[in-house]
Amino acid sequence: MALARSVPAAGSSRACGTSKLRRAPVSVAAPAASAARGAAPTRRRAPMCAAAALSPVTGEDRVFMNAALDLAMRAYGKTHPNPHVGCVIVRDGAVVGEGFHPQAGQPHAEVFALRGAGQAARGATAYVTLEPCNHYGRTPPCSQALVEAGVARVVVGAGDPNPLVAAAGIATLQAAGIEVALMDGAENARALDINRDFLARMEAEARESAAQAAAIAAKRAAAGAATR
Ligand SMILES: [Zn+2]
Repeated sequence: MALARSVPAAGSSRACGTSKLRRAPVSVAAPAASAARGAAPTRRRAPMCAAAALSPVTGEDRVFMNAALDLAMRAYGKTHPNPHVGCVIVRDGAVVGEGFHPQAGQPHAEVFALRGAGQAARGATAYVTLEPCNHYGRTPPCSQALVEAGVARVVVGAGDPNPLVAAAGIATLQAAGIEVALMDGAENARALDINRDFLARMEAEARESAAQAAAIAAKRAAAGAATR
């Protein structure tokens, strides 16, 4: 999938401008001033380059990401309309918490894993198969839960193109000083593969919301031109 292949090497400063992941949704990252001016917000590249570089992926990361992917698979086919997500919390090389999203309406994988880890989550590394959610849906955002738990590092299996999440989950973590790594290679391919249908649906929604934003901006621009 394009999303996987477009992601540059971890830690690369050239990530800016080349990664789809960093193309944050307009509604989240576009400066308010541009909307006020009626500028087409979809044309703006969100100022995500200010975000910290991604942390490099290690061999140990691949092992624990596979463990998190195995957890996600326990609810395979049962989470619709939500994605399959697994999470493992690791402290000093040992798993201290694990969880997966069992079905819609139930807590997300990160919540179960953080609950299991308790205080051990502080300073730990969290492996999450899909970019943590960043919005209030049926549950509070997992990005916030990870920040509040005090994890030091989060390794993400795959970015979430959901317009409510896209890059914002990772940006929230980085803004809180958490190191973030984005999986590449076979584990990233696996993370994308287990949510192929969900990701295709979210990419379609992202395209639709971008088209809607462009249409609104065009209407505003037309209205502005008419009153000038
Ligand atoms: Zn979540």
